[in-house]
Amino acid sequence: MTVSTSTPAVLSEEDERDLRRVVRSIADSFGHDYFTRTALADQPATELWNALAEGGFVGANIPEEYGGAGLGLSALAVITEEIAAAGCPLIMLIISPAIVGSVLARHGTDEQKNQWLTQIGTGAGKLSFAITEPDAGLNSHNIATNARREGDNYILNGQKVFISCLDEAEAVLVVARTGTNADTGRAQLSLFIVDADAPGLTMQKMPMVLETPDSQFTVYFDNVVVPADRLVGTEGKGLRAVFDGLNPERVIIAATCTGMARYAMEKGVAYAKEREVWGVPIGAHQGLAHPLAEAAIHLEAARLMIRTAAARYDAGQDAGEASNMAKFLAADAGIECLDQAMEVHGGSAFTREIGLGDMLTLARLFKNVPISREMVLNYVSEHTLGLPKSY
Ligand SMILES: Cc1cc2nc3c(=O)[nH]c(=O)nc-3n(C[C@H](O)[C@H](O)[C@H](O)COP(=O)(O)OP(=O)(O)OC[C@H]3O[C@@H](n4cnc5c(N)ncnc54)[C@H](O)[C@@H]3O)c2cc1C
Repeated sequence: MTVSTSTPAVLSEEDERDLRRVVRSIADSFGHDYFTRTALADQPATELWNALAEGGFVGANIPEEYGGAGLGLSALAVITEEIAAAGCPLIMLIISPAIVGSVLARHGTDEQKNQWLTQIGTGAGKLSFAITEPDAGLNSHNIATNARREGDNYILNGQKVFISCLDEAEAVLVVARTGTNADTGRAQLSLFIVDADAPGLTMQKMPMVLETPDSQFTVYFDNVVVPADRLVGTEGKGLRAVFDGLNPERVIIAATCTGMARYAMEKGVAYAKEREVWGVPIGAHQGLAHPLAEAAIHLEAARLMIRTAAARYDAGQDAGEASNMAKFLAADAGIECLDQAMEVHGGSAFTREIGLGDMLTLARLFKNVPISREMVLNYVSEHTLGLPKSY
């Protein structure tokens, strides 16, 4: 096992400004109309992804020796926020570079990194991530999907739900049970890279209310043969490795939310300045102006917490508390900004042309997923405040 210890470069203020400008101009050239069009056509946002990959942006956090930019999670958060601010929040950025890329960078073998991390770093290939099961829910210790060792292979059986972007992925990083702790009954979990087209793997699209180009799937593993060299990290210690991907996931989800919040605020503020009903712009009424101002304050607080969480992760410090807090604040800020931008737009808020209602549903998703509001509060109660564990 090779553990990467290199610390990514820190972006200067000027570099960050330039990065934001370039990424935003690429994403703006697609815009929310493109995002909606591909979503309604049930297609992935391949053209946007390829344009961003060509610029070297989708693997910003991946080390340079594996095709990435070596700029860390902080840069990926900046990039993600700008893409979402253009009205194109991409779930794939959360999954492939943030979760799987982070886990492989820290726990993959050299061969695994050469083969898979390089694809993630360049954006030429994508990997999905599969932990959620219908019966286990947020309690990963109850995972039932199992991998049994047979000679040079593992045999994988089970079912996962809500697996994002599997139709676009070359492979999926699967969390499976390889044993059970005799004392606690808890699962001993391991990670495997499984080809998306492996014999015995089938996927079924889940009908969702989300209007996004990225889809979710139920995945069935029926005696899937996985070569032993596809095990990532140490057998039975998979949960510890997964945690190295979950903080980046939270930070990049938070950046997706603040991006959507900025998208909403730009629209809401512009409309409040131009729309007149009683002879003055509606933004002159404090009933509209103050909630917008309050939303702007909450948005900036969330952005600061994202900065803190990403910087801690990049510096190799414990980023659990800050990542949870960033996701919590950003999900709420996203919902608040979109809701208030809709308030400002009156009846127009519900037209497809304005492009706010679909984004509000997407922002609302991130209050529940991947870690719910309640579980963040459980984390802060226990780890920040030192209160007894409640479950
Ligand atoms: C659009 C979308 C994309 C997704 N993509 C992926 C993916 O790519 N890969 C993947 O593996 N998964 C994915 N997921 C799954 C997602 O991570 C889970 O839905 C999430 O982790 C919550 O699990 P659950 O739905 O089973 O909720 P449950 O575990 O059933 O929880 C239900 C509710 O109970 C509450 N609750 C549970 N325990 C406690 C407690 N102790 N204290 C207080 N409240 C509690 C929770 O807060 C929550 O509100 C996706 C889901 C969606 C909707």
